[in-house]
Amino acid sequence: MKKLSCYILLVLVACNSPKNQAENTENDNCKTCGMHSLPYPKWNVTWKNTNQTKWFCSPRCMFIQVHKTPSLVNPSDSLLVTDYYTQNRMAAQKAFFVIGSDITSPMGHDFVPLQDEKAATDFMTEHKGKQVLRFEEVNNEVIKNLGK
Ligand SMILES: [Zn+2]
Repeated sequence: MKKLSCYILLVLVACNSPKNQAENTENDNCKTCGMHSLPYPKWNVTWKNTNQTKWFCSPRCMFIQVHKTPSLVNPSDSLLVTDYYTQNRMAAQKAFFVIGSDITSPMGHDFVPLQDEKAATDFMTEHKGKQVLRFEEVNNEVIKNLGK
């Protein structure tokens, strides 16, 4: 299974590098939806492993990928999201994500990252959030029902 995942990853990387560029060349299209990610610095997610940096256009696309193909995301990989208020980057595993608020990302309803519980509580009040979730609490059911 792990071999197959590596193979799929290699094929994906190969497909994304049509010009045979240097190996550290970054492709900033979202790995889930294909959208150009850099125009949305407040929302995009940096996905770094030892070999390369990849992007998701938003936390929603990150969670879709994490749950669709968990084997592609190693525990040692770094997933960086941006705090809504301070714009500080932080590990997604440490963030508090608010759902059901009146703030939307380029993907529509999304998971708004906050750096601590206080910020998440303030955001809930200011933007009519419905729920605060930690990284490990997000599952396919939550993703599917986002915005409902
Ligand atoms: Zn995306």
